Amino acid sequence: MLFDTVEELYNHNSTNYGRMGLGVQRELEAGLRALEGAEHARLTSNGMQACALAIAASVDAGDHILVSSSAYGPTRHFCETRLKAMGVEARFFDPLTGRDIEGLVQNNTKAIMLESPGSLTFDMMDTRAIVDIAKARDLITITDNTWGAGVYHKPLALGVDISVQALTKYVVGHSDVLGGAVMSNRKDVSRRINSVSMDWGLTLSPDDSYIALRGLRTLTTRLAAHEKNALEIAHWLEGRSDVAEVLHPALPSHPGHELWKRDFTGACGLFGLVLKDASTEAGDRFCEALDLIQMGFSWGGYESLIIPCDRQLTESHRKFDGPLLRLHIGLEGVEDIKRDLEKGFAAL
Ligand SMILES: *Cc1c(COP(=O)(O)O)cnc(C)c1O
Repeated sequence: MLFDTVEELYNHNSTNYGRMGLGVQRELEAGLRALEGAEHARLTSNGMQACALAIAASVDAGDHILVSSSAYGPTRHFCETRLKAMGVEARFFDPLTGRDIEGLVQNNTKAIMLESPGSLTFDMMDTRAIVDIAKARDLITITDNTWGAGVYHKPLALGVDISVQALTKYVVGHSDVLGGAVMSNRKDVSRRINSVSMDWGLTLSPDDSYIALRGLRTLTTRLAAHEKNALEIAHWLEGRSDVAEVLHPALPSHPGHELWKRDFTGACGLFGLVLKDASTEAGDRFCEALDLIQMGFSWGGYESLIIPCDRQLTESHRKFDGPLLRLHIGLEGVEDIKRDLEKGFAAL
């Protein structure tokens, strides 16, 4: 940025350096504020940075944070390593804990990190009960809202203090750009978010911001198509004798279905699947036998993807009767997706 006068150059109330973002970042922030019902939004280079920023802005040395054990793996790793080095203790709790979270709150607890549903195990959290306890104890609540994409879930409207998204997933929607965002309605919290973001030099490039902004234009339309395709596949899988369990919160059989109906207005394309009478290795062969659906860790793009998840499960996750697979259902024809999955079942 260039200035004509020294007064403008040193005006700290206006943008004066590229790292703070320029016009395109301001437009993307405005779109995300509208989407999440937020007063403030801050962009980051990826979703991991957004999670780390939200957490770091909520705690100081000597503090304690409660983190859902179903949270995104790298978020958990950040809590176990970086936070520890910063003098912050993280305790992981069962995502099915509702009001009982009160029993885990210590005198130095400052924040609670939620992710609903968890992106591996699809446990639904009782956000309202946790928010009630957090408000009574003056704790900051953070939700990783990547699954709800800001469309199907509005954490800030439920009283959550910070909503985080990996824009990488549905906002970008084409698996070609990384991005993240941290949204809040609290002035004090947003000031801390901005301050930590400045100290760490977090930013999203103009080109990547433009791609994410363009993604917002078609977000609801794409999500509706992912939702429809995924539900059809989930129902089909649920009716099969070689499937032990389908972990999709919009299915009435899902243990968290009532919470999903209460707090969500839809479901994205990501859900889990447990194979019946099969080993972890058989689950691996299932994934490798597919052609249309390839293996990849990301999701939210146009294409269907699958990963075997057993290797990512830890002691604190619930146990499953067979290999856990995670499917992201894309925008392909449902019959093509089914035909491809049949190859996996044939390989069992
Ligand atoms: C992918 C993902 C992230 C991290 O996003 P990146 O842009 O890949 O860093 C965080 N949370 C959830 C739930 C995710 O799925």
